[in-house]
Amino acid sequence: MSDYDAIVVGAGLGGLTAASQLQNKGFKTLLLDHCDQVGGCCGSMQIGDYKFDTGPSVVELLFVIDEVFTNIGRKREDYIEWIDIDPIYGFVDNAGKHFSYPTSIEGTREVIAKFSEEDARAWDRFADLGANALEKAFNIVMTQPMTTLSAAARVMVKNPAMMKYMAPYMLKSFQQVLTGFFKDDSVVSSMCLQSYFIGLPPCLAPGYIAFLAYSEHDGIVYPKGGMDMIPKGICKAFEEDGGKVQLNSTVSKILTEGKKVTGVELEDGTRISSSMVITNVNAKVVYEEMLGKDRIPGWAYKGVKSYEVSIPAPMIMLGVDKKPDLECHHTFCHSSIDNMNSIWFDNFKENKLLGDKNFMLICTPSLSDDSLAPKGHHTLNLVSFSPYEPVEGDWDKGLREKYLEDILDLMKRKFGLDLTSNLKVAEVIDPKRFERRFLHPRGAVYGLQQDLCHSAMFRPGMKSRIYDGLYLTGASTHLGGGVAPTIGSGIAATDLIMKDRG
Ligand SMILES: Cc1cc2nc3c(=O)[nH]c(=O)nc-3n(C[C@H](O)[C@H](O)[C@H](O)COP(=O)(O)OP(=O)(O)OC[C@H]3O[C@@H](n4cnc5c(N)ncnc54)[C@H](O)[C@@H]3O)c2cc1C
Repeated sequence: MSDYDAIVVGAGLGGLTAASQLQNKGFKTLLLDHCDQVGGCCGSMQIGDYKFDTGPSVVELLFVIDEVFTNIGRKREDYIEWIDIDPIYGFVDNAGKHFSYPTSIEGTREVIAKFSEEDARAWDRFADLGANALEKAFNIVMTQPMTTLSAAARVMVKNPAMMKYMAPYMLKSFQQVLTGFFKDDSVVSSMCLQSYFIGLPPCLAPGYIAFLAYSEHDGIVYPKGGMDMIPKGICKAFEEDGGKVQLNSTVSKILTEGKKVTGVELEDGTRISSSMVITNVNAKVVYEEMLGKDRIPGWAYKGVKSYEVSIPAPMIMLGVDKKPDLECHHTFCHSSIDNMNSIWFDNFKENKLLGDKNFMLICTPSLSDDSLAPKGHHTLNLVSFSPYEPVEGDWDKGLREKYLEDILDLMKRKFGLDLTSNLKVAEVIDPKRFERRFLHPRGAVYGLQQDLCHSAMFRPGMKSRIYDGLYLTGASTHLGGGVAPTIGSGIAATDLIMKDRG
């Protein structure tokens, strides 16, 4: 007799979703996490009087989150309250130009028309195509287990219109798709920024992802109280159904007998038995460390070794006692598309910090939700990219402090944003701290790389082909990183389990 029907390792969004669905379907489920709170990257950090998000800053494709609650006989609004975010983004470009895109398609058209009438007409075509692509392709793949050729083929056969919106963009880059529509430099670079939302430069991100530049116009929201309200809401439902959460518990091994999973072993040697283990951990760690070379066939070990982890994204958290000179929940500081590509090849690949290359997402969630800071105070998250082991030094040996100083100086010099005089608290979550906090190898923010070679059936499967009873969820399986995709992976993994065990 096993201790549990199912053990979920990792209380990130994928793990929580799978745990809540399984417990609700009658599986006695244990959810384990190394951290002292649920949510993984989608968590929070309290510094003095300021509450900061530790990862995502906004949510889109809301139907996926609603689906989690519907599947367990509940309503999302009884657990999480949304605040609409509009405008979607503010921009500050290289030449000091400020502009913003509202949610409305027409409003965005008017902004684009100020740069170029031709691009405004292209926006109409792009938005029309984007709306169809979202409805007929992306919304469908979000909760489907497409990690085998036959599973992907089944989804396509059921939804033939999908190919019309995916196939033509499969072999093009993000940049090629967008420059096929837009010509003005400011418009092109403002649309191309989102390629880094999947951790790749515009010239390498797959073309079908380019519709991200439309999808946010379907509406983006922020959960009242902070991003961690999403995992906390799902966890509340899980515990109401009788599920057990055990925090500060690090799993070191997945236990097996023959070709079957039998449970997990914690770092302190405790063994917990179950014939089903669902991991929300980076797939490389699952196969290379929790199972290890001796317990997986050579072909699988080679395959897993060949996966690259995604890029790290250091985050600076600032608490200030005055409203910063920003109007939007999100502000992008950016420059040309060449600069965005150069960040990847000349900096990231050469292990160099970005230095003066101005590429920064500034999130000011307290503009949308005043519960995050004392009255009149604000919280800012500054997110950019940098290597795990920069040539400039070690994050743990002074680089963290220097990085903070340099970025605050850059904000002042290049964007006229003086934050130092009003600064009350400041913290940097650099790639090494991120790795220690979430056990994400090399501080990877999206699990694995997200190019074409790491997508759909090329990404690690949701169901292990080696061990019966082993399933994967979260950013390193289909559909990759992001709030909606990882929650979608939890739904898809549960569907697979129900087919196997239901
Ligand atoms: C800086 C940043 C900004 C982002 N911005 C956005 C955004 O605006 N919008 C968006 O949609 N997405 C965004 N994302 C991506 C999104 O947050 C993630 O893709 C998603 O939250 C990952 O969920 P996951 O299910 O993969 O779990 P994770 O968050 O990766 O959680 C995995 C959990 O497993 C636990 N764990 C790991 N190893 C073990 C072990 N051995 N034993 C026990 N527990 C273990 C960890 O402690 C962690 O809690 C952002 C991410 C980051 C980091």
